[in-house]
Amino acid sequence: MSEPLAGDAGPLRSLGFWAPKGERGPLPNPADLVDPGWDESERGFVAAYLERGQIAGHWMGSSRCRLCGRVNGWRDYSDGHYIWPEGLTHYVVDHAVRLPAEFVAHVGRRTEHLEESERDHVWWLENAHRTRAPEERTESGTGGAAETAAGAGAGAGSDPDGATIR
Ligand SMILES: [Zn+2]
Repeated sequence: MSEPLAGDAGPLRSLGFWAPKGERGPLPNPADLVDPGWDESERGFVAAYLERGQIAGHWMGSSRCRLCGRVNGWRDYSDGHYIWPEGLTHYVVDHAVRLPAEFVAHVGRRTEHLEESERDHVWWLENAHRTRAPEERTESGTGGAAETAAGAGAGAGSDPDGATIR
């Protein structure tokens, strides 16, 4: 199975773009991809991934769902490999529009990779301390409080935003 290159090394691979309602053209019709038997947990997993894309652009007007007519987003999302309209989540969740198995496998691999990657905490420790508010803002009185809060947080223990560093 081929994996599209990351966006800065190749084109983003598009998915979930549909022919205008009632028209036949090169773009597919979502009605042809509806599969009510698509495993619900896999569907939910894919939908959650689609919702977490980065905004990669937007259109002048809103798109309408080709199947039910509801207003369905106006932005494009991307994960650096694929690009899709934000309304694709609605097709997956509410209409069981099935996406290609290659994309579903990509979602699984990306999610697993992020969960299992080793974490390097050194960069943050070094750079957070180098990143200081400009002097004039520190002197206005907020800087001292922020430093105190950061110091208290560093030893906190079970806070999910910190303390996993050992
Ligand atoms: Zn719809």
